[in-house]
Amino acid sequence: MNCQELRACLGAHLDGELELSLSLAADEHLAFCMACQWAYARERELRTLLRTRVPREGAPAALRERIQGALRRAEGAERRGAARRWAYWAVPAAALVVLALGLGVWQRSAPPPVVAELVAKHVMYSRLDAPAEIVSASQETVAGWFKGRVRFDVAVPDFSPSGIRLVGGRLAELSDRQVAYLLYEKGRNLISLFAFPSQGLALTSGGWARVGDGRFYVAKVNGAEVVVWNQGPLAYALVSSLDREALLECADTVWRLVGSRPLPGA
Ligand SMILES: [Zn+2]
Repeated sequence: MNCQELRACLGAHLDGELELSLSLAADEHLAFCMACQWAYARERELRTLLRTRVPREGAPAALRERIQGALRRAEGAERRGAARRWAYWAVPAAALVVLALGLGVWQRSAPPPVVAELVAKHVMYSRLDAPAEIVSASQETVAGWFKGRVRFDVAVPDFSPSGIRLVGGRLAELSDRQVAYLLYEKGRNLISLFAFPSQGLALTSGGWARVGDGRFYVAKVNGAEVVVWNQGPLAYALVSSLDREALLECADTVWRLVGSRPLPGA
């Protein structure tokens, strides 16, 4: 599949309407074509905006109030342990408006979009033969490569006590954010470590783990374990098919490494 063909079926791909072979071909193209990755991200963003803005503007105040009331009751019911909240979702229009208002009943159970995006990147890179732009097992070399390429300092942790080897790094994007992406491996497992400006990153409640001083958002998406957290001006994310304990151990290592470094400008 080339760029032109990809663009022609981009919408259908986003809607999950492509047949399997086309969908795989599209993913294959997206795995190496940054331009189309951009187009894909933009298109998805546009769809999200349309979904959330249109009903918001069209929602009469009375309807909005009714839904907010229903939500408050639903939340109350949830707190009392009653599994009745779906009863309030019977009217599709109401569901749309609630989504538009950004009230977190759905968000509580579904991982935030950024988490799905991180897993997609991880899967995409794990399919590439050579996902790293800088291939080196040296922390200094990889950290140095990022200097001048991203506008923040990249900490390159050492996971070797856990038998995890540094492979290298590359630049990536997450929506409009610039991302430093580090690759590690343990046997045939790829471990992805993302670092990016955390501005505006909202992690939903639920699915939190504490290790030492750190508080980490944990989720399992499409078979991959994900650990995400904010620390200083950056957010960090680990994605891997390793088990959660192993990944949290890595998260703790990053947490302590970042915490031990002087703050920028200090
Ligand atoms: Zn392309």
